[in-house]
Amino acid sequence: MIASMRFLHSASPGRNDGGVPDRLGYGRNDSGKPATSGSAGMMVARAEIAYIVRMNRDYDVIVIGSGAAGLAAAVAAADEGASVLIVEGDKQVGGSSRLSGGHFYAAGTSVQVEAGVIGDTPDAMFEHYMTLNQWLVDPAVVRRYCDQSAPTFEWVKNLGVKFSKEGVYPSGVGSTPRGHQPEGGGEQVVNILDGHRSHKDVDIVLNSRVSALLTDEDGRVNGISIGDDQATCGAVIMATGGFGANPEMIEKYYPQASATGDWRWYIGTEGAQGDGITLGESVGAAVDGHDRGLLLVTPGFGRDLEVLLPGWLILVNKEGRRFTDESAPYTVLGGLIQNEGGHAFAVFDETARTAAKPSPISQANWVSDVLHQKAEEGRIYREETLEDLAAAMQVDVGGLLGTIERYNNDVVSGADTAFFKANGLQSVTRAPFYGVEIRPAIVCWTGTGVRVSADTAVMNKQEKAIPGLYAAGETIGNLHGDRYIGGGGSFGPCLVFGKIAGENAARYARALNG
Ligand SMILES: Cc1cc2nc3c(=O)[nH]c(=O)nc-3n(C[C@H](O)[C@H](O)[C@H](O)COP(=O)(O)OP(=O)(O)OC[C@H]3O[C@@H](n4cnc5c(N)ncnc54)[C@H](O)[C@@H]3O)c2cc1C
Repeated sequence: MIASMRFLHSASPGRNDGGVPDRLGYGRNDSGKPATSGSAGMMVARAEIAYIVRMNRDYDVIVIGSGAAGLAAAVAAADEGASVLIVEGDKQVGGSSRLSGGHFYAAGTSVQVEAGVIGDTPDAMFEHYMTLNQWLVDPAVVRRYCDQSAPTFEWVKNLGVKFSKEGVYPSGVGSTPRGHQPEGGGEQVVNILDGHRSHKDVDIVLNSRVSALLTDEDGRVNGISIGDDQATCGAVIMATGGFGANPEMIEKYYPQASATGDWRWYIGTEGAQGDGITLGESVGAAVDGHDRGLLLVTPGFGRDLEVLLPGWLILVNKEGRRFTDESAPYTVLGGLIQNEGGHAFAVFDETARTAAKPSPISQANWVSDVLHQKAEEGRIYREETLEDLAAAMQVDVGGLLGTIERYNNDVVSGADTAFFKANGLQSVTRAPFYGVEIRPAIVCWTGTGVRVSADTAVMNKQEKAIPGLYAAGETIGNLHGDRYIGGGGSFGPCLVFGKIAGENAARYARALNG
């Protein structure tokens, strides 16, 4: 109680003389106008009700992080009747989820049916997920995601997120269209969830990074610290996102990404510091999913995000051989290049370069003037013969000549006999010839995190649930395998497990009332 009082006092700069916190913070104020988002410690009035009704705690549930997972958790916990506080380290809600496409990978949805995708099931999704990852993932957690993907999708849709049948597409390597693109992307999903958060009187404090978890004498997690401030609760949900913005964690947990050196950059927000791992480990959480995440390929020209390579180039390894359909889905292309030692060379000729125009695939890198400029700068090898190009790239010359001869023959016959590339076949015949190194080096999301049960309870190293601690979103470590299931395979589970975490944390907290 002392701790909770201290938090409420110090966290409520606008507290009035009557001891009731002013309606500050991110929620709706009394006039119905949105309050301005706050600095550290802003709080809204429900806090008072919460700690009177709930006696020995400030809130039933505290959610750390306000991305897709945290917001879904908060809304679901409030729907279960819990008093809820979200603590967000950033000045605004949304985390990386706000920047995201917000695609949702799900099986058996109403929008699939509208799109004519009939008969897709969680069973089929589970089988695909497990097979793609050679069963090297946690079946219980994957199963729960598959089973709950459609119900959670419908929940999000009913909350107001718009999905059209045109936005349903095969987002991974499977042919079944399970990717669902929301109108307005991740930002819209965040805004809609945040609107519900606000209307359900879920409190939020922004610009406040949780620095520690509190535990009672039995090891139950019962609160959080933000520096010297503390708040107590029945259960904590960690929804802190990944660690893409933390180089030390990348080095420790994601060596493939670390190996890309200064080519690496992260497309998400600075809040992705891996705090869920640090906080979880402080109370004994097991950490799973070493060296997992999604790396997108890049020629390293700058911090331009392009997810796919154009079909008109070929990729060769150090033997000078092609090793993939160059238009392979981004979900597998990075892994294929990783398999070749972490880098490969894109090769093309002058005809391809001069024809390279901005397209939906490439606005930034693979366009004629940029390619010319990068060749002038020496960033792209440009040689008059293929022999000289092979020497410059330090790839096997015989391999490269043979590969290009076979490929050119395929272009003439109109069929890629080696890798079945369907689009963009373009011969490599006209000097000068170009070669540019490609690496999977753009960190999209990270896959190492705390180990959870299918019910989102955080597990310790003895396979027991840590009482009072739940986790959801990118901070969980036992969902992803070596291969990304497809677009929506990270955002989707954030919502699925966020909702589950919110419900279960609320029930747990309620049960503590006896
Ligand atoms: C540009 C981009 C596009 C993407 N597109 C897709 C896509 O279309 N489909 C897909 O499946 N995936 C996509 N991803 C990945 C996916 O969006 C993320 O994995 C997902 O949004 C993560 O959600 P989250 O709720 O777990 O974390 P986040 O959204 O990152 O939220 C975590 C929040 O926790 C806060 N936080 C962290 N530590 C603390 C602390 N100690 N105290 C308080 N607050 C803290 C952070 O500030 C942050 O706001 C994309 C990612 C990016 C960056």
